[in-house]
Amino acid sequence: MNTGPIVLAGGGHSHALLLRRWAMQPKLRPKRLITLVSRASTTFYSGMMPGVIAGLYSQDQSEIDIRQLCNEAKVSFIKAEITGIDLNRQQLSLLRRPAIRYGILSLNVGGITNQTAKGIGIKPFESSLKIIKQNEGKIQRPIRVIGGGPAGLEIAFALRARYPQQHIQLQVRSTTTIQSSILKTLKKAKIELLHESSDTKALCLLCTGTRGPSWIENGSLPVNAEGRVLTNQKLQVLGHPNVFASGDCGVIKNAERPPGGVWAVRSAQTLAQNLAAYSKGATLRHWTPQRHAIELIGDQQGRAWLRWRNRTWGPSIMIWTIKSWIDRRFRDKFNQQTKMNEGTPMDCQGCAAKLPALPLETALEDAGMDTTAEDAAIVSSDGKSSIIQSVDGFPALINDPWLNARITTLHACSDIVACGGHIKNAMAIITVPKMTGSEQAEILSQSIQGIKSALKDYSATLLGGHTIEARTKSPTLHPDAQDIHISLSVNGITTRFWEKRGIQAGDTLLINRPIGTGILFAGFNSGKLNSKEIDNVLHTINTSHRQCLERLEHLNIQV
Ligand SMILES: Cc1cc2nc3c(=O)[nH]c(=O)nc-3n(C[C@H](O)[C@H](O)[C@H](O)COP(=O)(O)OP(=O)(O)OC[C@H]3O[C@@H](n4cnc5c(N)ncnc54)[C@H](O)[C@@H]3O)c2cc1C
Repeated sequence: MNTGPIVLAGGGHSHALLLRRWAMQPKLRPKRLITLVSRASTTFYSGMMPGVIAGLYSQDQSEIDIRQLCNEAKVSFIKAEITGIDLNRQQLSLLRRPAIRYGILSLNVGGITNQTAKGIGIKPFESSLKIIKQNEGKIQRPIRVIGGGPAGLEIAFALRARYPQQHIQLQVRSTTTIQSSILKTLKKAKIELLHESSDTKALCLLCTGTRGPSWIENGSLPVNAEGRVLTNQKLQVLGHPNVFASGDCGVIKNAERPPGGVWAVRSAQTLAQNLAAYSKGATLRHWTPQRHAIELIGDQQGRAWLRWRNRTWGPSIMIWTIKSWIDRRFRDKFNQQTKMNEGTPMDCQGCAAKLPALPLETALEDAGMDTTAEDAAIVSSDGKSSIIQSVDGFPALINDPWLNARITTLHACSDIVACGGHIKNAMAIITVPKMTGSEQAEILSQSIQGIKSALKDYSATLLGGHTIEARTKSPTLHPDAQDIHISLSVNGITTRFWEKRGIQAGDTLLINRPIGTGILFAGFNSGKLNSKEIDNVLHTINTSHRQCLERLEHLNIQV
């Protein structure tokens, strides 16, 4: 039986539903270290995307908070771009960070826009929406939507709703597949229909369909002509039973369906059951997707068409009302989940997990120790320079082992920096939760690499350390990787020890980054803060103080 970690690649629709299921019914979640990797901590619900462009929904209303869902489902979350897959070593390569290992892999990374013309691909939605927002009010030239499928039609209507005066074009291969009532509505909305166009002035948005990401194809997985991974009806990739694929990046051999969110949604239940069954060595179930799916195309102004096979009904207010209801209901499913956690009191994490002043000072006094200690201690001095040392650590702030180790190390290094020291080396003690050997190896390897990467920022080295296996389980419900504890002893050299004590009225207090990180994480864990706010915090604390130290030294200020 495969005992390695489960990795969920991509925060697509199938994985979002899988997480919701595990959050609501924890017994169904495989008892493994499970990690989801996605390039963003939120994901768009595609059905509402045209409505976001049209201004009917805010971006937040149409996004699913994947990081928060992961937390609720006790799944670790890594925000990173996947760049490759190595089937022999069973690992995924990630941009600007170490690869992660899997025992079982599930791919739900969607597709990438077919670049059939020069322009901006509508997918990923995050990038196309950003470009639209950045150009707000500045677009003098026509906006041309390329592609006459449902996506292209909806985006053209959405742009019309957003920019009533803008010159909007829709470039299609042929008008024969577009129903006359839709053509009439396009004309009424003053959306110019084009066939081929050599005019290069327009800002082009490509709604030209998708294909599988190239890193999947390059990874030697079996793919169809569109680069989508071929699976069997149990959603296992052909020839690779421990790799599953669903949504637009995969396709079932002999039951191929055109890509669409509807298949990603419908396959979620089979995926959930089969991941759990495979990890237990139990029998997997087959899934046959229905042959056809209903298409709902909105004009983004209160009317919609319904397409079933070759027939089309609409435009009608009633179809629009049904479409809006389906979209909101789907999106609200995930809101309800997040609300379940709201108000649950959580301890502050990270460095905020230190003892309060009272017990600490009492104990230090009892032991006859100095209670006004500095951030670092002088170990030895030759009169010109001093070797200084500090020790720091805390229970994991986040459940991404590599990033957590980086942040803990940067924090520990800051004690040396605060005393004016240059970091030279460090030793680490890492406590890992009780789990299988391959799971422990993975989170330990990620943690050590995270420590090394932070020390590298200071041109310092990791000399060694010690590992401990936790004997007790944290009572707080969170992903297993959040049970890691890291402590470091950091050594540095300074030619002038900056003392903490002695601050006087009139002195300048330098605060080089926002404070209160632990409280913000506690807020996130109890559902009061969203993932984008946490992304900002992580971005801030994931940087070293090296430049700050060098600038202060350069200024030669009195400290
Ligand atoms: C304008 C428009 C409207 C649409 N409307 C509908 C509709 O109403 N109904 C419908 O059924 N379909 C619709 N579709 C199609 C729909 O968008 C896709 O079929 C659907 O999103 C596929 O879902 P998925 O779960 O496979 O992947 P996606 O929803 O594309 O999710 C993929 C996830 O993986 C992440 N990811 C991707 N690559 C990487 C990487 N390299 N590293 C890390 N993370 C990665 C992404 O950030 C994302 O979170 C529409 C498409 C468009 C363009």
